[in-house]
Amino acid sequence: MPLCPECETALDIDDDEVDEGDVILCDECGTEYEIVGTDPIELAKVEEDYDEEDDEPVDEEEE
Ligand SMILES: [Zn+2]
Repeated sequence: MPLCPECETALDIDDDEVDEGDVILCDECGTEYEIVGTDPIELAKVEEDYDEEDDEPVDEEEE
């Protein structure tokens, strides 16, 4: 089980349960990682893109 590079918490993911392109969230620090490889698991931190020039509302799907 890979460790969160940010806080070194064990990430609750299983290489049988994830595919490349999946995004997982560290429960401890809230950092998102995209799965970029599964053998072994490789993570790429998802940089949140705060673009202040683009103020389109976030797509909210509330019921
Ligand atoms: Zn973390």
